[in-house]
Amino acid sequence: MKVGISVAGGVQALENIEPAALRDVGLNSVFVSCYEDEVRWYADDIGSFLRRSHRVGLECYVVPWGYGKFLDPDPSIESLYIDTHPETLQRDSRGRRCRKACPNNPRYLEWFASSMRTLAWLTECEGFLWDEPSFHVSRGAWGCRCVHCKRLYWAKAGVEMPRALTDPVCAFRRESVAMFLLAAAAAIEAVDRRLVSFVMPTPSLGPSEVQTGAEDWRTLARCSAVDGLSIWVPWQARGAQMEGTLVDLFEGARKKGLGEGKQVVLWVVGSPQPKDRLLDTIMCAHLAGCEHLVISDYESLFRTSAFAPFAASLSRTLARVQ
Ligand SMILES: [Zn+2]
Repeated sequence: MKVGISVAGGVQALENIEPAALRDVGLNSVFVSCYEDEVRWYADDIGSFLRRSHRVGLECYVVPWGYGKFLDPDPSIESLYIDTHPETLQRDSRGRRCRKACPNNPRYLEWFASSMRTLAWLTECEGFLWDEPSFHVSRGAWGCRCVHCKRLYWAKAGVEMPRALTDPVCAFRRESVAMFLLAAAAAIEAVDRRLVSFVMPTPSLGPSEVQTGAEDWRTLARCSAVDGLSIWVPWQARGAQMEGTLVDLFEGARKKGLGEGKQVVLWVVGSPQPKDRLLDTIMCAHLAGCEHLVISDYESLFRTSAFAPFAASLSRTLARVQ
């Protein structure tokens, strides 16, 4: 099993990381969040970190954040695109603009694809992770009812798009996400056709799914652009038992068509704190048959005073699972 680490702290975090130290602990891969507003100014620093990581033998993956925020799970992340292209944002069911670009807007799609081509040129990596693509959904309101979505819905369904979030609308949104992923994968593959695309579906914290367009694993797994699903294992956030949650999610992903040459990359929140049970989690994922586990993230694992006394046992565990 490969074990990786995510680095979500931006360029400042990259400055303080020595890729060889990650490899020496026994890690195999690094998932680097690349923020739209930072790539504009610090592309060289990001590119240099990924090159150094590659050189010491780490697999590298790019996680674009910002970029119109269609992919963005964190509302606090800035996107200059959003401020400069308000006409391409999603319209919610009450007619208001949301701070998320619409994947069916041709202008946004063109800008996004060209930005991803540039990012793929700038970075030496094995692939990209498309992190939680999502249509707006909040307090009974949902997107998108922009002119492009309504026109596309009419062309596909032969009726006007309903005002309620009906099953056909949910299916249309899932289809739109799949089309967006095809465009995103085509953009990076135009630079290097070996680049893989992983997608992180919307995680479910409660008993019901949040309808974002990326909630259905089966639709995402069937999309030819998707090489694997990244599944977050939110056992701490759910207040659930680690082993049961991890195995259920992993087996669930396999059952939904991911056995057919598509990978499952599990994501766990990890720290040296006993409450996070990181060593047990690594062993549990290994015994379940997982091929790639990612620990989120560098700050919570390495940059704590508890890391130094924990490092040796982490290395031993990583050696056992490889
Ligand atoms: Zn739209």
